[in-house]
Amino acid sequence: MSSSCEYPKFNPLSCGRLTIDLEAYADNWRFLRDKVNEDGNPTECAAVVKADAYGITVDKAVKTLSNAGCKTFFVATPEEGLLVRNCHAEAIIYILNGLLPGCSDQYIINTLRPVLNTKHEIIEWSENANGYPAALHVDTGMNRLGLREEDARALCEDKTLIAKLTFSLLITHLACGDSPRSLMNGCQLSSFQDICALFPNVPRSLSNSAGIFNGQAFHMDLVRPGIALYGGAALNEHARDNPMKPVVKVEGRILQIRNVKKHESVGYGAAEIVETDSIIATVAGGYADGYIRHSGSTTKIKGAYAFIKGHKVPLVGRVSMDMMAIDVTGVPDVKRGDYVELFGPNLSISELAGHAKTIDYEFLTGLGKRYARIYGPLGEESG
Ligand SMILES: *Cc1c(COP(=O)(O)O)cnc(C)c1O
Repeated sequence: MSSSCEYPKFNPLSCGRLTIDLEAYADNWRFLRDKVNEDGNPTECAAVVKADAYGITVDKAVKTLSNAGCKTFFVATPEEGLLVRNCHAEAIIYILNGLLPGCSDQYIINTLRPVLNTKHEIIEWSENANGYPAALHVDTGMNRLGLREEDARALCEDKTLIAKLTFSLLITHLACGDSPRSLMNGCQLSSFQDICALFPNVPRSLSNSAGIFNGQAFHMDLVRPGIALYGGAALNEHARDNPMKPVVKVEGRILQIRNVKKHESVGYGAAEIVETDSIIATVAGGYADGYIRHSGSTTKIKGAYAFIKGHKVPLVGRVSMDMMAIDVTGVPDVKRGDYVELFGPNLSISELAGHAKTIDYEFLTGLGKRYARIYGPLGEESG
């Protein structure tokens, strides 16, 4: 996969660039596939590609993983399902948001499988789908989507209804998978095992990325990783020590470099006052580009960092809509037009997300439309 040569590394008119390493993405998928098959019990490794594949572009993501051998994809909405169908005729595609009212025909024409979440959806599907396969979602503790356990038991007793349905997958979703010590994980596992026993021949799927790292019992027949494929932290502890390869690098360009004198302020609200004479670079990239405003810095509470020419440098002042300021005092050879890494191989997305009091997912899925997109290796350093 050397798609990198099709795309220019440098677009003179763009103020920022997003580099997406599809090889690393495929490596992450193979790593998880191998991990869930280590014990010898076969487990299918699917992929979650909702929200434009967590920001990395859904068609590129699907092509890359299907070349690597991935056969099953999960998206949130039926429209996302169509995007996957358009780039892959054979893929098995599940719609996590379920069956939208009155839309069975369109799911079937496009061979999309709903994840049935309620009795209403189940009945509607049974009346329209002629036994076309669907997944069944049983809730075991999220209280978000899915049948309550008692309703799943009742469904199983309703032989006439069951006879009209083909379940190709039984799923549930962990609430606290990112904390393997949470007692909730074991409770959800055992509730799910009880439900699975009622549907003996239906393949079972419990784990998102985090679940995969909770041990073999959580792997079952199929896993549904998202965030780990994209290089994000699946477990809380991965924020410090992440076994996955980074897949995305985000860079903004320096628009201006200025001298700021001791005790002058930088940015809106004069929120940060510099303690010494400083060299401040104004970088293109702000909250309109998905760089969360909460990452900014104030005199009292310091903010996130950026990375340039081998140096980790602090943000100064608030993040604006289109730009932010960084302190480049002491970094040699910084000039207008240089690229600054906002997150990527030198600055983990988890570290940035921590400063912004959010999670890796929000940074990835919020990446704006203004970046030039480059598909290729992340490279070593910005400059
Ligand atoms: C989003 C989602 C996933 C993927 O979760 P990650 O934490 O990104 O691995 C898996 N299953 C369901 C039901 C989801 O909604």
